[in-house]
Amino acid sequence: MRVACLTDLHANLAALDAVLAALGPVDAVWVMGDIVGYGPDPDAVVARLRTLDAIAVRGNHDAAALGLIDVHDFNDDAARAALWTREQISPETRDWLAALPERREIGDFTLVHGSPRDPTWEYLWSAAAAAANLDAFTTRTCIVGHTHVPLVFRLDGRRMETIEPVDGTELVLDERRTFLNPGGVGQPRDGDPRACAMLLETETGTLTWRRIPWPIAETQARMREAGLPARLVERLAVGR
Ligand code: ZN
Repeated sequence: MRVACLTDLHANLAALDAVLAALGPVDAVWVMGDIVGYGPDPDAVVARLRTLDAIAVRGNHDAAALGLIDVHDFNDDAARAALWTREQISPETRDWLAALPERREIGDFTLVHGSPRDPTWEYLWSAAAAAANLDAFTTRTCIVGHTHVPLVFRLDGRRMETIEPVDGTELVLDERRTFLNPGGVGQPRDGDPRACAMLLETETGTLTWRRIPWPIAETQARMREAGLPARLVERLAVGR
């Protein structure tokens, strides 16, 4: 089975569609949250995921759009975008987002947004943070998002190794426990504005990271039209 692993779509339809086109036909789409927030197309992104029968978990921005968490926990721009999203989304989008769990297990994989012990807020930036989460899930592999940066942490003996995937990086899963972050689709933050995605071939356990160009100006124009904060518009061009 070919699985498109996507995270932090952030209501960026142009980026999502570019990623889907580049990955080609897949058998399943797994989404590690932050489907909405920041971007201009929350309803269209959710509609696209629904047509794909995507399997998804809820991120902090999805929770904010639903009013489940206080936007005062966000910085000013994120809070403004969260309130805009909350007003903007249709009842169908709201219902779909509200039905998302914080965690899912599919075979050998646990899917969460931030970390298994704190799916809403914790960022897995470091091997130490990953190591502290090993007891918080029981599957061999955990797929996360939230940082908007592609990262792998793999337990090798007693050492947690860190891998920073780039475009074309391939990795084969083995018996070692591993954290995988596909990198962000809708708002990459590692200085490369190209969208990021991870393809999983379940039969062989092969993972491939891809960086995919997308029409940045298109999303920026839609954000300006919507009156979303300028800083959020500008960061898309620089991948920060
Ligand atoms: Zn995010």
